[in-house]
Amino acid sequence: MQLSDHSLRQIDEAYLERLGDEALRSLSAKLLLDLKEARERLNQTSRNSSLPPSREAPWERASPAERDGDPEETVAADVSPETTAADPAPEAGPAPAAETQPMARKPAGKAKGAPGHGRPAPERVDAVELHRPEQCAGCSASLAGQTGLAYTGYYEVDWIREGAGRTVRVTKHLFEESTCGCGHVTRAEPVRRLEDEAGVGGFRLVGPGLASLIVALSMRCRMSRVRIREFLSDWLGLWISVGAIHEALAETAAIVAPLEQELVRAIQQSELLHADETPWPEQGASSLWLWVFVTSHAVLYYISHRGQELARNVLEGFVGVLMSDGWQAYRWLERRLRCWAHLKRKAQGLADSLDPAAQGFGHEVLALWNDLRESVQKAREGPPGMSLRPEWEERLQAFRVRCETMKGHSHAKTHALAVEFLNDWEAVFCVLENPFWPLTNNEAERALRHWVILRQISHGTRTPQGSRHFALLASVIDTCRRRGHSPWEYLQTAITRRRQGLPLLPIPA
Ligand SMILES: [Zn+2]
Repeated sequence: MQLSDHSLRQIDEAYLERLGDEALRSLSAKLLLDLKEARERLNQTSRNSSLPPSREAPWERASPAERDGDPEETVAADVSPETTAADPAPEAGPAPAAETQPMARKPAGKAKGAPGHGRPAPERVDAVELHRPEQCAGCSASLAGQTGLAYTGYYEVDWIREGAGRTVRVTKHLFEESTCGCGHVTRAEPVRRLEDEAGVGGFRLVGPGLASLIVALSMRCRMSRVRIREFLSDWLGLWISVGAIHEALAETAAIVAPLEQELVRAIQQSELLHADETPWPEQGASSLWLWVFVTSHAVLYYISHRGQELARNVLEGFVGVLMSDGWQAYRWLERRLRCWAHLKRKAQGLADSLDPAAQGFGHEVLALWNDLRESVQKAREGPPGMSLRPEWEERLQAFRVRCETMKGHSHAKTHALAVEFLNDWEAVFCVLENPFWPLTNNEAERALRHWVILRQISHGTRTPQGSRHFALLASVIDTCRRRGHSPWEYLQTAITRRRQGLPLLPIPA
């Protein structure tokens, strides 16, 4: 938007009468751009925009512009440092709950009317940053050299690089307004990007380095919001409310949300893809799963139902080879690999059983697995492109006959394993065609392991939006790590650029 609400309120017919031709033309251009943008936004729904309906949830909240209310009110509320340093909860919207506790009966968050934690004003201010308007928003005349008047401000607490280490820095940001000769009062305002504004609100309190640290504590160190608050207070002497911590996580996720499309493309174009799923609790939702897709240089997570729909959407146009544990959501794909670790475990179960025929079949599968692994590992020492199919043809035919026989066996698990081999025969033995393909789905299972531990500690997520943010941050963190970059540097840069109104950069390959 070219003109802020504050500017627009000052523009009326009387003001237009006073402007000269050139100033009028310049203002008309701004008004036209804003009108078009407003009209487009008005007409935009999930049906005619590129956003799928699920993508709308994060932005359903009112934008800060709408919540700001009366300008006079903003002036009164924000100018004094005492109030800007107060708890950010009113600006940040309803304070979210700290711990995810599906067992707890009482609604999460602070009870209405309960006393909040007061946050003292920072004990020191390390820097003051003045933000001054450079040009009149009305007539476009230069405002350089004009003395401004601070109308609002806020403190930003950051965890910045200093020398070899990092240190806390408290910056006081002051935003000024200047009165032009034409009578228009122009305000310097924090950069806002309307299309994906999730409520800058209390987040401005937390600087990019601190926000990145909060994401690290939450996602990598698996700390709850309450523990993060405690940690920041005990170790850095910072008092950041649980609400502001929650906002920092949500905002960081919103900032990196556009990367999802890039990751989906990377996955669709990959030659070899690992996929796996694990149950994921979300308060009030039933049977959700955390899905992961792993390629050599991208990791993408989703929290969704376990049906085919997600796999079909994500893997549209995928022509590579998919490794999975045999979950049927992937059966429609032509080129699949089956994880042998699962088959081996089942065969071991049969070998340990009390039924002699089951034992025999179990040992047979285990022997087949040992020979297969040996054969594949040996082939990997040679040149690529050598198929093991011909030398295995006879053995496979014999095994297939055995499976057909065991399919009719009365021992349930023996029958099940025989059927499993027969139903997914191609995927199970596909690795013979290219011994450089993996034998197990270890890559995807390893990716999920970290989040499974987090799930045990946190009991999952609380809302669909929380789930979406969680999956986004997990995707970006693991993709950065896979590409050999620090996720924390990447996130810090992403937040810094957003606040300067610059576009998000892709994760370097
Ligand atoms: Zn002017």
